[in-house]
Amino acid sequence: MNSLILLKYGEIILKGLNRPLFEDKLIANLKSAGGDDISKIWKAQAAIYVEPREGADEEELALRLSRVFGIVSAAVAYIAEKNLESICALAKELMKDAEGKTFKVESKRADKKFPHTSQELSALVGEAVFENFDHLSVDLKNPDILLTVEIRDFAAYIYLNKIQGVGGMPTGTNGRATLLLSGGIDSPVAGYVIAKRGVLINAVHFYSYPYTSERAKDKVLELARILAGYCGRLEVNIVPFTDIQLEINQKCPPEQMTIIMRRIMMYIANKIAKKHGSSALITGESVGQVASQTIESLFVTDDAAEYPVFRPLIGMDKEEIVTVARRIGTFETSILPYEDCCTVFTPRHPVTKPRLEKILESEKFLDVEALIKQALDNTETIILTRSGN
Ligand code: ATP
Ligand code: MG
Repeated sequence: MNSLILLKYGEIILKGLNRPLFEDKLIANLKSAGGDDISKIWKAQAAIYVEPREGADEEELALRLSRVFGIVSAAVAYIAEKNLESICALAKELMKDAEGKTFKVESKRADKKFPHTSQELSALVGEAVFENFDHLSVDLKNPDILLTVEIRDFAAYIYLNKIQGVGGMPTGTNGRATLLLSGGIDSPVAGYVIAKRGVLINAVHFYSYPYTSERAKDKVLELARILAGYCGRLEVNIVPFTDIQLEINQKCPPEQMTIIMRRIMMYIANKIAKKHGSSALITGESVGQVASQTIESLFVTDDAAEYPVFRPLIGMDKEEIVTVARRIGTFETSILPYEDCCTVFTPRHPVTKPRLEKILESEKFLDVEALIKQALDNTETIILTRSGN
């Protein structure tokens, strides 16, 4: 049976004159995700066709491509001639191996010259399948097997088991931003949500060796690798933070420790964002989750940022965030029990309503410029890619 992978994209169809730019970017990103497993890729009639390399695992490739931002569905589609007889013969052939007791046929006609309407075609193919298999019955609401027939330019395409894609916009079509990536549950989700909109992200992670272990750093790199599975590539800047924390601990009031630390994270993120060409910072904060995420604290933190701070989780409950973390595959890694730099010097009674003037007063006890410079001079940059590292 002749087959190829049929990909559909969503939102970029709405783009007017710019649409080809978005499509071309999407195709470039798919090529990079598919690598050698793709032998040919082209677009036609608001779909992308992929011819896999001979011997490639088509199902695996379809799954990989369905995770490229911009793709709403992927399917291994089998090809029939554009006439009822060939279509019914192929449908029956495919249904032989399909698991389930109930089925439904759905048809789409990109070629309106085809002699049957979509509804007629579904009914005719459904009938042919039904007559051929004793164990199958039709269920239009909740079928075990959905068989789709698409009549397109040069052929009819038939597939079972459409894979739902991640959606969003192609990476690289919506500017750049820098993610503050911790080892927790929230920031990987925040990065995913913004990256999904086509924003090219890089990441910065602050670590407090030896107060936090090598394994805590490995955990962050593993989270970055999972994110790279969607964005293709993720640069992570690992910034040593211990000296800064020790200095704050020594020179500033203990209850202000966390908020001052957060501001210094912003100062350093500003520099990394600038180097990356970013126009925004991203954090995983959500209103009221902890003392440093009260509205007053966020206000004081923002004052240190030179870019707009995107907080896509700001109004979400933990449970909602966890649901996304599970879906995108970061949750299991995020809950590994290694400590984060923020937990090392957490004051017992942090201020929950910091006043900016007071915090700025305390910050004067620090040589902020020197601390930033030293941290940046010792920053390690690691690049994670979709295919591993
Ligand atoms: P997360 O689950 O993302 O760690 P959190 O609920 O633990 O978030 P905080 O520890 O207060 O919250 O951190 C708030 C945000 O600050 C994080 O979502 C992340 O964007 C950033 N952040 C915290 N710690 C670090 C770190 N060590 N390196 C980089 N960014 C960090
Ligand atoms: Mg955290």
